[in-house]
Amino acid sequence: MSKSALGLGTNNLEAFWMPFSANRQFKQNPRLLVSAKDMHFNSADGREILDGTAGLWCCNAGHSRPKIVEAVQKQVAELDYAPAFQMGHPKVFELAARLVAMLPSPIDHVFFTNSGSESVDTALKIALAYHRAKGNGTKTKLIGRERGYHGVGFGGISVGGISGNRKAFGNALGGVDHIRHTHDPARNAFTRGEPEYGAEFADDLEKVIALHDASNIAAVIVEPVAGSTGVLIPPKGYLKRLREICTKNDILLIFDEVITGFGRLGTPFAVDYFGVVPDLITTAKGITSGVIPMGAVFATKQIYEAFMNGPENTIELFHGYTYSGHPIACAAALATLDTYEDEGLLTRAAELSDYWADALHALKGLPHVIDIRNLGLIGAIELEPIPGAPTKRAFQAFLDAYEKGVLIRTTGDIIALSPPLIITKGQIEHLFDTLADVLKNLA
Ligand code: PLP
Repeated sequence: MSKSALGLGTNNLEAFWMPFSANRQFKQNPRLLVSAKDMHFNSADGREILDGTAGLWCCNAGHSRPKIVEAVQKQVAELDYAPAFQMGHPKVFELAARLVAMLPSPIDHVFFTNSGSESVDTALKIALAYHRAKGNGTKTKLIGRERGYHGVGFGGISVGGISGNRKAFGNALGGVDHIRHTHDPARNAFTRGEPEYGAEFADDLEKVIALHDASNIAAVIVEPVAGSTGVLIPPKGYLKRLREICTKNDILLIFDEVITGFGRLGTPFAVDYFGVVPDLITTAKGITSGVIPMGAVFATKQIYEAFMNGPENTIELFHGYTYSGHPIACAAALATLDTYEDEGLLTRAAELSDYWADALHALKGLPHVIDIRNLGLIGAIELEPIPGAPTKRAFQAFLDAYEKGVLIRTTGDIIALSPPLIITKGQIEHLFDTLADVLKNLA
């Protein structure tokens, strides 16, 4: 009997194994989005939903923006694909040059991937291969941080610090250690912007170095602002301190800017916001405003040059993806950069951040709210968990907000907000009015 005769036709939700989702719960009461424009999604049941999360922190320019749509349509008709190995196409070189021009020196090369997870695994591999190329082959340990999220590849979950993302996946996660996370609500709760206390958390790295010895450590990876574990803003001076310790010990510093890249903090990248330049930067998401999957790893001149040895006909880095620098992704990225530039979006969060912070912190005092944090156009509201039922209260808030026409995101009992950078003051007001309503009625 054919599958459609068995009832597994196009309207059946069963076949799709959804990522990071409660499949059974979703399929009983699906939330299907059928179109999007600018700041809004439209749902299959005919409602307009304000996007408070830029999709998954990716649609920084908003949805279905004309320049990007047109560029993708044109590209797919002109050059649908070009082999990525030993071949090229003009747009990938154009995009690379344009991107590295946006970054501070000495970062001047870029390697393309298709996602944040691939960017992370690529950066970790480059770090390992770099030390080997320099004759420091014992430098193989990778250091991550508790509560870090670096995607879902084996490299990313190894250095990542979220137990739920690690515990089911066996023992291929070796060769890593972790420093402490920086979240310290006892001293920093309800801080606006960067927390005052906690730069000394960076000294954990000294302890890890004392334990393993710098001669065995290749790299440290951190998110400048941790997003997926509930928006952890770095304490003042923390990232600078990490930089100093890495430099002193010949350890590469990797900033995972998959969410902070492309304007989220009101500067093009977090490196600009914090004035700290790492050796490698991982990005994805906002590079194409989420329209076509793409990621990028930025590297310093010194790292790139370390590989440019040996006979010229040899491959210098045995790494790459069939879709690295895909022509359609490049076209989308170029048009995205145009849109960011035309509309001043890479600095717009700086203009809105005070207004955003005022509206966000006005929720202090509502039921169950135990902390509020913000930076750029990022906000987090931490709720007191229901005893014995962690995550349930925040998830209920997510469902209620969706019913009221606003998309938020929750992780644990934390509501995380990261709207497209085109959001207006009126929409910010609407977002927080709705959230206040949701919080007041939450059990
Ligand atoms: N790194 C960080 C900091 C992220 O926030 C994410 C995704 O949210 C990733 C990596 C993984 O990106 P992707 O889902 O594109 O693989």
